[in-house]
Amino acid sequence: MCKPKLAIVIPCYNEEESLPLCLKAIWACIDSLTEMREISKDSFIFLIDDGSTDRTWEIIEEAHKLSNGRVKAIKFTRNFGNQNAIFAGLKAMKNFNVDAAITIDADLQQDETKIAEFIKKYKEGYDIVAGVRKNSDEYSFFKKFTSELFYKFINWLGVKIKPNHSEFRLISARVLDMIDMYRENNLFLRGLFYELGLKTAYVDYMIKEREFGKSKFSFSKLIKLASTGIVSYSTKPLRIIFFLGLFVAIISFLMWVITIFVEVILNHDIRAIEPFEIWESFISGVQILSIGIIGEYIGQILIEVKDRPRFLIDKELF
Ligand code: UDP
Ligand code: MG
Repeated sequence: MCKPKLAIVIPCYNEEESLPLCLKAIWACIDSLTEMREISKDSFIFLIDDGSTDRTWEIIEEAHKLSNGRVKAIKFTRNFGNQNAIFAGLKAMKNFNVDAAITIDADLQQDETKIAEFIKKYKEGYDIVAGVRKNSDEYSFFKKFTSELFYKFINWLGVKIKPNHSEFRLISARVLDMIDMYRENNLFLRGLFYELGLKTAYVDYMIKEREFGKSKFSFSKLIKLASTGIVSYSTKPLRIIFFLGLFVAIISFLMWVITIFVEVILNHDIRAIEPFEIWESFISGVQILSIGIIGEYIGQILIEVKDRPRFLIDKELF
């Protein structure tokens, strides 16, 4: 326990530009922690190639050869997404008897020097240590805005995940065993780790700009992740639809009463009154929105019921 065997797990999707530098920086980290006798000298790097179409896998093979097996890796048959890549990496840990694993992105946007603090917290007894982004100037206004909105909304739904933390986290061997029991296809790791209910420590860090390549998270991938997060951990949106329906029904009833009053008593043509038309288009909007929300839940049920493999491994370098 005093010198834990640590694995640094890194998902890579078309990271040929970032990966050489990333490996160098992470090795520097592992070396310095080993020298300070903070971690065991068996600690290693574990890479998941999430179906890259560039030279990422060649770089990984090269690093594996040069490292005497201390860079291990798996390659997916195709792109299965960052959440599946991280999960696959963590699942693979049961082959190596590690005490703890740290997940970090390949673009080094997260501050890898904070790993020392993660280890300190782990030794204090925390099973999960998560990095929390303290700045967001590196993000576009749109990304900042949508990210804040997402955390506010999901917190309001009752899923109290810490805002501004992502996949930069340490988890203990105990947690590695626990997450093995989760069988869902629609993965949202932040929700999953929150759900475990374990003591979690948070370490602040400053996010850096991505130095090489572009973000591998397209807008549609981000929307999918946000929707998975909400649908997987809360059914409150379905209840909101019920109350929305109730609200529409009550207002519609009042409008019916007004219509009778205006048309029968005052003898006026109600169709000429604009609020009624606005109300009608509002109801259409509410209906389409509600169907859309229910559709998200049905879509997730379909994926879960099919129970297809979450990822397929093409090659392994252990
Ligand atoms: N990633 C992945 N599969 C994907 C998309 C991304 O494995 O389909 C990896 C990517 O290589 C990186 C990490 O996930 O190591 C985070 O992605 P990125 O830095 O592009 O996301 P951002 O920081 O822009 O949110
Ligand atoms: Mg990034």
